[in-house]
Amino acid sequence: MQRSRRDFLKLAGVSALGLSAGTLGFLGEGAQAADALPSAADFAKPAKAKQWGMVIDTAKFDDALFKKCIDACHDNHNVPKIEGKQEIKWIWTEDFEGSFPTERPAFLAEAQEHRKYLLLCNHCANPACTRVCPTKATFKNDEGLVIMDYHRCIGCRYCMAGCPYGARSFNFRDPGEFIAKDKLNLQYPHRTRGVVEKCTFCVEKLAQGKLPLCVEASGGAMVFGDLEDPKSEVRKVLKEKYAIRRKPDAGTDPSVFYIL
Ligand code: SF4
Repeated sequence: MQRSRRDFLKLAGVSALGLSAGTLGFLGEGAQAADALPSAADFAKPAKAKQWGMVIDTAKFDDALFKKCIDACHDNHNVPKIEGKQEIKWIWTEDFEGSFPTERPAFLAEAQEHRKYLLLCNHCANPACTRVCPTKATFKNDEGLVIMDYHRCIGCRYCMAGCPYGARSFNFRDPGEFIAKDKLNLQYPHRTRGVVEKCTFCVEKLAQGKLPLCVEASGGAMVFGDLEDPKSEVRKVLKEKYAIRRKPDAGTDPSVFYIL
């Protein structure tokens, strides 16, 4: 049976997750096959969503909850701790101005003005990053996830210039040097110097029928589901509460919504 383009992209998604650890850096000494990562069989199953999306209830967050969600993501995905301009971040916080520079009303309520907002890749329905990638190292899969094939990334950083949200980070240095040995998650390969990385909406968890780690850690402050399914939890929440997105005028159709 001939493989369809869809099957190819599914398998490319597996590659993007680093099942071939040899070219992605390393899994750590003595590490076995990464059981936590999806297998090709997982990706051969029918898509579970047309467009995964997220709603973040910003009033429910305090500094401790931000840390819990960020640590859940960064620790599990071996995101190196580098400070300054070479920082690698999959999920982070910013103030209102930094989060919604085009959304500021004339008189912003104090509660929103002094709040911090949790930011991550928006897994845009119409992503700018994928259009400018010359090697198709970043692409949208059939569940609406914008993912990376690190093997194809040549480090040109066009995707970083194309993303209006600063959601991508470039590995100027070997990330392995910035992850404490006792913190290394042997089930999830880290990336290598010279490639771009970002949030994947925990594609490896979704393939197992689980929620993204930040959503799980948020204790209900974040809701996740299929934006194309009117019965999904995200759609139910969006029907009841007013929510905004980051830079809607950029035309990328972000899949992350913020209840103020
Ligand atoms: Fe691409 Fe940026 Fe949208 Fe993520 S937020 S899909 S990196 S344009």
